[in-house]
Amino acid sequence: ASRERLLVVANRLPVSAVRRGVDSWHLEISVGGLVSALLGVKEFETRWIGWAGVNVPDEIGQRALIKALAEKRCIPVFLDEEIVHQYYNGYCNNILWPLFHYLGLPQEDRLATTRSFQSQFDAYKKANQMFAEVVKEHYVEGDVVWCHDYHLMFLPKCLKERNRKMKVGWFLHTPFPSSEIHRTLPSRSDLLRSVLAADLVGFHTYDYARHFVSACTRILGLEGTPEGVEDQGRLTRVAAFPIGIDSDRFIRALELPQVQDHMKELKERFAGRKVMLGVDRLDMIKGIPQKILAFEKFLEENPNWRDKVVLLQIAVPTRTDVPEYQKLTSQVHEIVGRINGRFGTLTAVPIHHLDRSLDFHALCALYAVTDVALVTSLRDGMNLVSYEFVACQASKKGVLILSEFAGAAQSLGAGAILVNPWNVTEVASSIGYALNMPADEREKRHHHNFVHVTTHTSQEWAATFVSELNDTIVEAQLRT
Ligand code: UDP
Repeated sequence: ASRERLLVVANRLPVSAVRRGVDSWHLEISVGGLVSALLGVKEFETRWIGWAGVNVPDEIGQRALIKALAEKRCIPVFLDEEIVHQYYNGYCNNILWPLFHYLGLPQEDRLATTRSFQSQFDAYKKANQMFAEVVKEHYVEGDVVWCHDYHLMFLPKCLKERNRKMKVGWFLHTPFPSSEIHRTLPSRSDLLRSVLAADLVGFHTYDYARHFVSACTRILGLEGTPEGVEDQGRLTRVAAFPIGIDSDRFIRALELPQVQDHMKELKERFAGRKVMLGVDRLDMIKGIPQKILAFEKFLEENPNWRDKVVLLQIAVPTRTDVPEYQKLTSQVHEIVGRINGRFGTLTAVPIHHLDRSLDFHALCALYAVTDVALVTSLRDGMNLVSYEFVACQASKKGVLILSEFAGAAQSLGAGAILVNPWNVTEVASSIGYALNMPADEREKRHHHNFVHVTTHTSQEWAATFVSELNDTIVEAQLRT
C-alpha cells in the first residue's frame, strides 16, 4: 500500500535559498526541531509548503526555484517584500510574538502598533490565503495537512472553507497566553474562530491548551469540554503534545573523534573551574540579563567560588535590525563588562559572552563538558536547549537549572532545579546548590531527565500528533 501523504505547512521551509544566477539556486538545509521531528516519521510521505526566505519577483527565478525545491520535497509560497514586512515583521513578530510571551511593547511602539494594527492584520490574512492557495494546488484527497505556529492561525479556516473534508491539524510552538492577555488583541475572535476550524489543535503543555480553551469559552462563548471546544455540536479536539528532540543524533555526535577532540580542548581550557552554560537566541523572552545578574549575585556572596567557576553564554543574534533587540544586546554587554571588570583577574574572567551561533558539533561538545546549564526564560514555548543538554550529559551528569516559565519545566521538572528567573536571590542560591550538589543526587536527577528526553523524542511527537488527528476524524464521522 502507498504511504499516507502529509503536507507540512510552516512559515519557513526547512531550506534556505540563495540565488546564484537568473535561473540557478543554491539550497541549504536547516535541521531545526521540526525537520528532525518529521524525518523520523517514516510512515508518511512528507511534503513541505512554506516561504523560502527570499523575495523572487521574476517568473524565471520562481520557476527555477520551484524546480530546485521539488527535489527536496519542498514547495515554495512566494511572498513579496511588502507582505513580508506587514505580515511577518509586523503582525507575527511585533504583535503575536510579544503578546504570546506576555511581553509588553515599549511605550513608544505602542501607539504606532495600534495605528498599523488593521493593515498588518489584513496582510496576515492575505499571506495566510496565499499559503492556502498553494496547499490547494498540491492537495490530493486523503492528504493530512498539518499547519504550524502563530504565523498561520488563519490557515485552518482558509483550508476548510475550500474543502470541509480536508484533514487539518494546527500546532502552536509558542506558549498560548492566559485569556486575559489574548483578549486584548483586536483580532482575538477572528484568530480563535479560524484555529477552531481545524480538526485537531495542539500545544506543548496542558496549561497552554487550557488557556486556549478558556479563551474560546470566555471570548467566543463556546463550550469547553475535556476533549476540546464545542460549537453547535461540532467538536474541535484540543490537546497537549510536548515536542522532544532527536536524542540519538546528539548521543551519536558525542562519539565522533572531532567532537571528542573539542571536548578535550574545552576541558583543558577550563581545568580547575566548573563550567556553567547558557545557550539562547538573544531574545527578550530568554531572560539573559536576569541570568547574568543572578550569576553576579552568586559571585558577590561566594568569594571562594570567584576563580573556580566560569559562565559561558552563547547568545545567538536574532532580529538584529530591530531597535529593541539592539538595545537588549548593548544592555547585556554592559552588564557582562561590569561583572568581568569587577570579578576578573589578569588571567581569567568569570563570563565568556559570545554574540554568535555555534555549529552542531561544537554545541554538542559544549553541552557535554558543562557542569551546570542555566535556562532562565521569562516565557518559552518548550525550550529545546534544556533537552539537548540532558541528552549530552550521559557521562558527566551535570545539573539543569530551569525556569518554571519554560514549557520544558512541565516535563523536566523532576530532575531539574526549577527557578523563577525574576527572583535573582533564588537563582543565585540555586547556582550554589547546583555547584555543590553531591554526585548521587546529580545522578538521580540526571537519570530522571535522561529517560524522559530519550523516550519522548521528536519523532514520537510527530507520529502521535498525526495519529491523533486521524483518530479525531474517524470519531467525528462516527458521531454524525
Ligand atoms: N542552536 C544552534 N546553534 C547555536 C545555538 C543554538 O543551532 O549556536 C539551536 C539549538 O540546538 C536548539 C535551537 O537552536 O535546537 C534553540 O531552540 P529552543 O527551543 O531552545 O529556543 P528557540 O530559539 O526556538 O526560541
